[in-house]
Amino acid sequence: MKSRLFLTITLLVLSFLLISPALAAPKVILDGQQLTFDVPPVVDQGRVLVPMRAIFETLGASINWDPAAKTVSATKEQTTVKLTIGIRTAYKNGTPGTLDVPPKIVGGRTLVPLRFVSEALGSEVLWDGKTQTVTINSTSGVKVTVHIIDVGQGDAIYISLRDHNDILIDGGDNTQGSAVVSYLTNQGIDDIELLVATHPHADHIGGLDDVLAAFKVEAVVDNGMVVDTATYRDYRDAVKAEGCPYQKAVPGQSWVFGSYALKALGPVRDHGDANNNSVVCLLDCGEIEFLFTGDAEAEAEADLLGKAVAAEILKVGHHGSRTSTSQAFLAAVSPEVAVISVGAGNTYGHPAASTLQRLKDMGVGISRTDQNGTVIITTDGKTYHVIAKPPSMPPVINKSSPPDESVQPVEPASTGKYVGSAKSDKYHLPSCRYAEQIAPENRVWFSSEAEAQAAGYVACKVCGG
Ligand SMILES: [Zn+2]
Ligand SMILES: [Zn+2]
Repeated sequence: MKSRLFLTITLLVLSFLLISPALAAPKVILDGQQLTFDVPPVVDQGRVLVPMRAIFETLGASINWDPAAKTVSATKEQTTVKLTIGIRTAYKNGTPGTLDVPPKIVGGRTLVPLRFVSEALGSEVLWDGKTQTVTINSTSGVKVTVHIIDVGQGDAIYISLRDHNDILIDGGDNTQGSAVVSYLTNQGIDDIELLVATHPHADHIGGLDDVLAAFKVEAVVDNGMVVDTATYRDYRDAVKAEGCPYQKAVPGQSWVFGSYALKALGPVRDHGDANNNSVVCLLDCGEIEFLFTGDAEAEAEADLLGKAVAAEILKVGHHGSRTSTSQAFLAAVSPEVAVISVGAGNTYGHPAASTLQRLKDMGVGISRTDQNGTVIITTDGKTYHVIAKPPSMPPVINKSSPPDESVQPVEPASTGKYVGSAKSDKYHLPSCRYAEQIAPENRVWFSSEAEAQAAGYVACKVCGG
């Protein structure tokens, strides 16, 4: 009797599954919205396949179908993926990769492996086997981190893009080379895809010989000026020893890394002056742009008026000197955040009160490496998050306390309710064992879970965030 009941239930379940394949189909959620497909997704050997046209269009890719070759190619921005029915080799920008499950035709529709196409087009894909749910984050997987490194008086800016694409703009002065090298080493970089030397002043190129000695550099770009200084010769010798392509920046030229591009905007013409001949470049991260101006002053800024210089984040020119960040240029860029790379107590009087006032009058948020230390800005291409340690408070003397307690501790480095790592996308409670493993320099603090999520972070599975 028992075995017959078991058999009946088994048969019922089996027939139910057979006649209702849709119920067994996995759910696909894109940026919080469940997608519906006219042909349900299927799971084949543990891989989710989805209708080609629906998923490519949802991810914003245009499709080209070659019926003779049974090949589909989909293009989104600078990325093209190419898949062939029944073939396990697929291509991303011409580079072959192997699929676990090839695309196939089901019910007259072409189904393609979801993870490959989504990731190839710059999305993050998560699979929950328990609920048979695929979650695609079209934005949070694409993360850019820009570090305006505190090198005292000078500039050194490290840009971390997806797929280990690393860009360095300037390297601080001669005394900062080893600090820049150790900062980059702590970030876990393997090599530098592009090194930009904005102009041959020592506070920009001084540390670059150390950087070139420490890392493999794939390409060097500068403003083409040759100057007669020992610092410049060290830099030039190090570039020659590197043996990589080396060129003068040409306005309009772009370096493309996946869905991101660094575009050279200047120098537009020769000013006969190193600062105004600075390489000016714009990092395009989708809806968020960063403008890096080197030491460009008002003359070079004027060359850029009327060009596409609008940016959410401006690395302020020439350490905030009064001769840079002119009113007209500021209006054209219209930044929300300005970062000033400047040394505390420098002898140049940088940043100038007048420049700070122009920024304040425009309602621009200001971060300064002399007050905030290294400033880190992360973006998913849609929103951004500025990580800057609050300025150190001067010691407060409390006269009523005994002498050994009279000096209050200075304000600690930034803290908050949740902590993430600049090198992962999880956020934790500070007490979580994973939080404790994050190196202090990689800690990113958030005041709320919403803030962490807005920055593209997801809750840790151990502590729940
Ligand atoms: Zn400078
Ligand atoms: Zn300069």
